[in-house]
Amino acid sequence: MDLLEYQGKQFFASFAIPVSDGRAVDTVAEAVDAAEAVGYPVVVKAQVHVGGRGKAGGVKLATTEEEMREHAGNILGMDIKGHTVRIVWVEHASDIAEEYYASFTLDRSEKKHMGMLSAQGGVEIETVAENDPDAIAKIWIDPIEGLDEPSARAWVVAAKLDPDATDGTVDILLKLYRAYTEGDADLVEINPLIVKTDGAVHALDAKVTLDNNAEYRHEWGDYELTQVRDDREQAAHTAGLQYVGLDGNVGIIANGAGLAMSTLDVVNQVGGEPANFLDVGGGADADKFVAALRIIDNDPRVQSIFINIFGGITRGEEVANGIIAALDRIDIGSPIVIRLDGTNADEGHDILRPHLSDKLQMQPTMLDAARKVVELAGSN
Ligand code: GDP
Ligand code: MN
Repeated sequence: MDLLEYQGKQFFASFAIPVSDGRAVDTVAEAVDAAEAVGYPVVVKAQVHVGGRGKAGGVKLATTEEEMREHAGNILGMDIKGHTVRIVWVEHASDIAEEYYASFTLDRSEKKHMGMLSAQGGVEIETVAENDPDAIAKIWIDPIEGLDEPSARAWVVAAKLDPDATDGTVDILLKLYRAYTEGDADLVEINPLIVKTDGAVHALDAKVTLDNNAEYRHEWGDYELTQVRDDREQAAHTAGLQYVGLDGNVGIIANGAGLAMSTLDVVNQVGGEPANFLDVGGGADADKFVAALRIIDNDPRVQSIFINIFGGITRGEEVANGIIAALDRIDIGSPIVIRLDGTNADEGHDILRPHLSDKLQMQPTMLDAARKVVELAGSN
C-alpha cells in the first residue's frame, strides 16, 4: 500500500523523524485556515500517489492569504499524471541550504536491505543514477544485524554530504531504518532530505510503501481510506483476493502469486492480453472460486477465463471439486479453460471431465491452455 506524502510524514513523525508542521485539507477555505495555523510562508502540496508533483505544478509556495487561495484553488482538482488531486497538504515553508536523497528498500537478489544516499536530491533518483551513478552511495544491510551508528556514519561520509550535516543525517538514517523495518515498509524514501539554513536536517518529502502482509499488526485504517482502486480492485479487496486489474480481455485465476505471474507471461507469449492478475491462494474452497469468478466475469473487458492450478498441498481432486461446486452456484458468461496439474491431477481431471463443454474446457499444459483461452478471447 502506497501512502500519500502527508501520511508518510505522519508515519515518519511516529519514528521521531523531523518533518514540517502541516495540515491535510480538502477545501480552499480549510487550506487558508491551515496556512494561518502553521504560519506563512507555507508550501501547498498536491497529495497524489505519484511523484514529480513539483514539476507538474502541484507544489507551490504562498507568502500571503491571497496567494494561498490562488494556489490551493489551482491545485485542488488538478490532474497529475491521471490522478485527481482531492487533498492538499499545507506546511510551513523551510529555508533550504542543501537537498539530499535517502531511501531504504529490499534488494531481493542480495537478500539484504539496501540504503541509497546522495548529495544530489530534489531530482528523480533514476535521473541521478543515469547521469552520475557515482553520486549515489549504497549500503547493503543484513536484516539480522541491522544498521548501527558506525556503519551509518561511514555511509554518510561515502556520500560526500556537507560534513556539518553528518550528525543530523546519521540520526535520521537510523530512525528511517527503524521506520522501514519496525514499521513494515517495503520502501521509504526522502527526496529531498534537506539541510536547512540553520543547519537542521529534515524530511521535506515522504514516499512510503507499506507491506500489506503486515497489516494485521498495525493500525493502518486511516491509510486505507485514501487508497485509490478501480471498481474491480475494490471488489477483490473486499473479497480478500490478491488482484490487480489490467487492460486485456483474458481473465486469469491461478493459485500462487508466482504461477499467476507466469500465467500472465504465457498468455502474453501466445499473443493474448491478460485482464487481470488474480491469486486465489492455497486451499480449494468453492467460496473462493465463486468470489474470483464473479469479479472476473463482471469485468466487461473479459472474453474468456483461464483457470491455471498447480496442485501442491491442495490436491487436484479438491481443486476440481471446488471449481465444480462454484460453477454450480453462479452463471459465468465467458468460456473457461482449465489447466490442472500437480498432485493428483489425474483424479482432478476425472472429476472435471463429465462437466466439460464449449463453455468449460480443459487443456493438458499451461501453453495449450493459454493458446486455447486466447483463441476463445479473440473469437468471442
Ligand atoms: P515532488 O516533486 O513530488 O517530489 O515534491 P517535493 O515535496 O519533493 O517538492 C518538490 C520541490 O519543491 C523540492 O525539491 C523543493 O525544491 C521544493 N520545495 C518543497 N517544499 C519546500 C519548502 O518548504 N521550501 C522551499 N524553499 N522549497 C520547497
Ligand atoms: Mn520529492
